[in-house]
Amino acid sequence: MIYADNAATTQLDDDAYGLMIEFLRNNYGNASQSYEFGQRSKAILIEARKTIAGCIGADPEEIFFTSCGTESDNWAIKMGALNVEQIITSEIEHHAILNACKAVEATGKTVKYLTVNNKGEVNPNDLIKMIGDKRSLVSVMYANNEIGTIEPIAELARIAHDNGAIFHTDAVQAVGHVPINVHELGIDMMSASGHKFNSPKGIGFLYVKHGVDIKPFFDGGAQENGNRAGTENVASIAAMACALKNNCCNLAENSRHLYTLEKVVIEKLKNSGLGFIRNGSDAHVPGCINLSFAEAEGEMILHRMDIKKICISTGSACDSVNTQISHVIKAIDVPDRYAEGTIRISLGKYNTESEAEEIAAALIEILK
Ligand code: PLP
Repeated sequence: MIYADNAATTQLDDDAYGLMIEFLRNNYGNASQSYEFGQRSKAILIEARKTIAGCIGADPEEIFFTSCGTESDNWAIKMGALNVEQIITSEIEHHAILNACKAVEATGKTVKYLTVNNKGEVNPNDLIKMIGDKRSLVSVMYANNEIGTIEPIAELARIAHDNGAIFHTDAVQAVGHVPINVHELGIDMMSASGHKFNSPKGIGFLYVKHGVDIKPFFDGGAQENGNRAGTENVASIAAMACALKNNCCNLAENSRHLYTLEKVVIEKLKNSGLGFIRNGSDAHVPGCINLSFAEAEGEMILHRMDIKKICISTGSACDSVNTQISHVIKAIDVPDRYAEGTIRISLGKYNTESEAEEIAAALIEILK
């Protein structure tokens, strides 16, 4: 099998897996208990928080462990909404943000949607025009999950602050893949999900800057300094810290490798004479290749690639039951002739050059 759907999820790193087994089987104490066996787990949490904070330029007390990116997004949007008059987000967000915003809208609060250009980029000037004098929460994704486009986060955060707003970013596709320093970028809240950077599924975190006023989303015990109740998933947290450190220590090398693989795929497709558009912008998550083929059907391509034991997708994994043209492809105005023939190849650090060759060769054979 060739796995080329790393934007949907990634392979667990071996050392992260080793840690999980250790903490599931042997060091399984509850971190809230004061006996030594529990305190061992607490020490693991302290270490993991420090490691994760170090990877994104945060302080350890600003990291709150959650069960996934979706929970982090829901927390930021639904609890963040309590302090503001309006939410401003973009039209190409993941459904974790869009549907959380819909829930907020249903309570009578205003939600406004920034449009994007045909590369999927938000225009910061649009935010200036939209924000007005209302107390706002601005939430714009760091990198899009379908086309990989990286948004101008520092500028959007600056505009938000100049207008007294709080700035959140859904960085689920970016953390562990591009350099991020939350303090330098001026981010107030940031969502991340372990399984997108070679950690297990079902673990994530929300970064909340010191001084940002946000109520807990889960009520219950005193875990996470009283901010996120629920017994900590120590094994997954330790694995997440390990995998994030692995990725962040090798960011430049991984990016170089992935850009090389992208080039292999694109050159081979160009030389084949097939008519296609590459969606997204030059500033994108390394390895993300979103393509629209003329007079083709993304679903058909996906299933024929599957028969060849190659995993790719047509867009967001969370949308696999809905085979219509995605909201992202609509937003960037892919011409009708091409829109239905859209696929996403998302390469990861474990993919090889020969796999990239095979992916391109299989696509060419299927489409021809
Ligand atoms: N946000 C983005 C941009 C995503 O790509 C995803 C997952 O695909 C999520 C949020 C949801 O993350 P999780 O699967 O951890 O709930």
